[in-house]
Order: sequence, then C-alpha cells, then structure tokens
Amino acid sequence: MEKVDKIYLDIDGVIRGVASPREDIVAFLRYCLDNYPGAVYWLTTHCRGGENHVAAALRGEFDDEFVNELCSKVLPTEWGALKTEAIDMDSDFVWFDDNLFESEKMVLEQNYVLDGFFLMKPRDPEMAKKALEFLNGFKK
Ligand SMILES: [Mg+2]
Repeated sequence: MEKVDKIYLDIDGVIRGVASPREDIVAFLRYCLDNYPGAVYWLTTHCRGGENHVAAALRGEFDDEFVNELCSKVLPTEWGALKTEAIDMDSDFVWFDDNLFESEKMVLEQNYVLDGFFLMKPRDPEMAKKALEFLNGFKK
C-alpha cells in the first residue's frame, strides 16, 4: 500500500476517551480532513444501522465549530454486525480502531487487507501523534 484512498475512524478509544492530548487528536483529525477530503468515514457504534449519533458523541469533546466541521465532512457508514461490512475492500484504506474482533480480522485477511488496520492504544499518550505520523508516511 503506497497511498491511502479512504480513512475509517472509530470514535471511542480513538478520538474520545484516550490519553493523547486534545491538541494531538485535533491535529490528527485536521490532517485527515485536509489531506483526504471526501474520503474520511465514521466507523463507530455511534453511526450504525442507519442512525448517526456522532454529533452527540463528540459534543463537549471538541469545540462546537470543530464538531460541526467533523460532522459535515466525515461521512457516515452503514453496517450492522461487523464494521468490515462498511469497508470498501477494493480501496487502499486505513482503519483506525482500538479493537478488532476475530470475525472482522478474518474478513480483512480473506480480502488480503489486514495491513489496512491500524490498532490504536487508548492509554498511550503518543497515540494520536503516531497515527498522524503513520498517515504522513503515505504519498498524497
Ligand atoms: Mg473503539
């Protein structure tokens, strides 16, 4: 994988409820929005089965203006049991999540795209920085 077509973002344990400083999380999200316009997707239980509660989940985490921007620019996904249902397996994607179910891992393996999964460690205060650095390593 040399480039990134799509970015999938979990919320809890990735951009909320994490040890990374707020400014680092904002920098990571800013980087995603600015470098991958129209290609960043929510992949979270807050947006699932046709319901989107992301705005409520993020309210108070970041300033209102940034929450509004995130909600207008990051696209919703449709999934039910497994998050992999929402992933475009033909794209070069990065999926940032703090958890990967065995069943989801199997789907990624079957599609030869396990390298698109990036494990976030919520307790690591450097995590948001590492995620940004990881993205920064790809061609634009
Ligand atoms: Mg999570």
